[in-house]
Amino acid sequence: MNISNWDLAYDFAAAFGLVMLFIWYGNEKRIPSRAHKAFLGVCVGIMLVISVEIIEVFFGRFRNYIDDRAMYIVLYGQMLAILTACLFFAYYVKLLTKVPQKNLEIFVKNIKIATVACVVLMILNPFTEWLFVIEDKKILVHKGFVIPYVISVAMMLTAFSNIGKLSKEITFRKCIIMILNFVFCIVALVLQITGIATMFSFTLVTGCMTIYHYLQNPYAVMDTTTGQFNRRFMNDYITYRFEVNKSMGVFLIAMDDFKLINKTYGIDVGDNLLLQVGEYLNSLKYPGEVFRFGSDQFCAVMDKDLSQIPEIAEEVHERFMHPWYTGDGEAVMMSASICIVKCPQDAADMGELVDIMDYSMALAKKTKKGNISYASDMKLDNVRREKAVEKAVKLAMDREEIMVHYQPIFSIGKDAYNSAEALVRLKDDELGWISPDEFIPLAEKHGLIVELGDMILEKVCRFIRDFNLKDSSIEYIEVNISTVQLMHKGFAGRVKKILEEYDVTPDQINIEITETATIGDVSVVDANISELVEYGIKLSLDDYGSGYSNIDYINQMPFSIIKLDKSIIWEAFKNVKAGITLEYTIRMLNELQLLIVAEGVETEDMKNHLADIGCHYMQGWYYSKAVSDQDFMELIEKSA
Ligand code: C2E
Ligand code: MG
Ligand code: MG
Repeated sequence: MNISNWDLAYDFAAAFGLVMLFIWYGNEKRIPSRAHKAFLGVCVGIMLVISVEIIEVFFGRFRNYIDDRAMYIVLYGQMLAILTACLFFAYYVKLLTKVPQKNLEIFVKNIKIATVACVVLMILNPFTEWLFVIEDKKILVHKGFVIPYVISVAMMLTAFSNIGKLSKEITFRKCIIMILNFVFCIVALVLQITGIATMFSFTLVTGCMTIYHYLQNPYAVMDTTTGQFNRRFMNDYITYRFEVNKSMGVFLIAMDDFKLINKTYGIDVGDNLLLQVGEYLNSLKYPGEVFRFGSDQFCAVMDKDLSQIPEIAEEVHERFMHPWYTGDGEAVMMSASICIVKCPQDAADMGELVDIMDYSMALAKKTKKGNISYASDMKLDNVRREKAVEKAVKLAMDREEIMVHYQPIFSIGKDAYNSAEALVRLKDDELGWISPDEFIPLAEKHGLIVELGDMILEKVCRFIRDFNLKDSSIEYIEVNISTVQLMHKGFAGRVKKILEEYDVTPDQINIEITETATIGDVSVVDANISELVEYGIKLSLDDYGSGYSNIDYINQMPFSIIKLDKSIIWEAFKNVKAGITLEYTIRMLNELQLLIVAEGVETEDMKNHLADIGCHYMQGWYYSKAVSDQDFMELIEKSA
């Protein structure tokens, strides 16, 4: 193959293509990711390869006029260019795969060693002549010439060996397109070596453009409304910084009452104002990046000079003291709450950071809107405890260690225990006993309650079946159901299925629900309740008197039992007015023909008085605390 005969048209076309790619790069927001930088390295490497190839062809054509030293430089340039392109590409491929950070660091170290080794070989070549010599304007290649190429190929193969573990952004479709590109490059290389067409570099460039479009497209990591990076990219960015133990200052800038702005000026103006805020934050002079964190929240991550944090926070705060302008020039005053979390001091990983940001923002919105607050000044123990409890619930669910205890309910009419309330219990190795009052709301918040609720119901049904409850005085078990469970479509269907699976009849279960102001989809809740009541399950209203005590609620919903909350019971024994209210409440419920359970009965006096004023059932420590299934059965047998 005589290089001086090569048709340079493809090389020039490739060079023009790459120049366009560099222009795109320069025009878009700079993406601060390692993959993006590595890919830029690949493009620079390919540009060098093309340039050297063009120079080589000219040198070949005018061989007799070219100085030997220039020939040496071009040959070294070629080796270095190929090495650069290949090693950056190998690194890029490695970054696309889910390799642990440590592996990656070793790989980068190897790349550095390989590069230094090749450069040393080149420096020594004039003395050792291991790589090549130029004699009579001819290049005589020696054995060492293949070393840089062997190193490049070896690094590429190592990188490709992990290709099975591609990161989540790379879908199968994208993968196929990349493979196709790779095949085209191989074909082009064969065509070039055999002298059929010198289109290898051109094919490399079309490959680069494809990668740019599919994998390095800035729009994939940008939020189009604000022109800042999106939240998914923020997760990647911050997670990486935690992985490599880099400290950072995370600013959460949350607009206050932005809904009002949207309502007053319309969504388009609202979007434009958000765009302006994003641009303003991006224009601040500090080393870092800006992300859109939530619909009306931004997150700025400062990664150097953390001592500047208070200054920057003040600057942002000050900016919101002045108006912003709509496209029509109308002045709009906006307020923003600023929370600062220093990492790793305040948060040690991404999950903790998000929890702290949520918590600090909720706190700021409640107490001091439009101000600057520091996570370090807040009591973060609550957040950490919440996280630990959430973990404990998940663990107990996975290990099937969730327990259910039973607290007997005494029937005054029958003078015997006639039912019981199932109360979930959780004991963690580290945290010890955790109260359901603490973990149930967390299970609701973190989407665990539906599964947890099903587990509890199954345990109750198994208890009813295994201990032959129908042969005892216990007519039914009260099961607490969270409103979140009721908002789940298909809840009633699942309850029926579980009951049938354990041969439990609907009259053996009572469902306890509490009155809540925040029912999401009322129609789903109503449908579930109607289905369950039609099936024969009775409904109890729990904690009556502790919340809104909306009489309408009682009138609308098909309750059979009303459970008076222990707080109103206890209050009635301390305070005359509360005593009168309780008496009248009980009278009213009796008139409505509802059965009444008094909760929190702790003394005989309480029991006697509550029975006198019309409560039908008693539940409380006077009788028993909630106990395990075995102990419960013993208690029932003893009392019979
Ligand atoms: P709740 O449904 O009102 O349950 C009654 C709570 O009062 C229980 O607390 C019980 O142990 C406590 N209690 C009963 N009698 C007395 C008494 O005489 N004195 C005192 N000081 N306390 C008494 P627990 O077990 O801590 O449960 C707290 C709450 O957690 C429950 O209130 C219920 O809302 C929720 N919960 C418990 N188990 C479950 C469950 O399986 N699912 C759901 N969704 N929530 C549950
Ligand atoms: Mg209850
Ligand atoms: Mg209750």
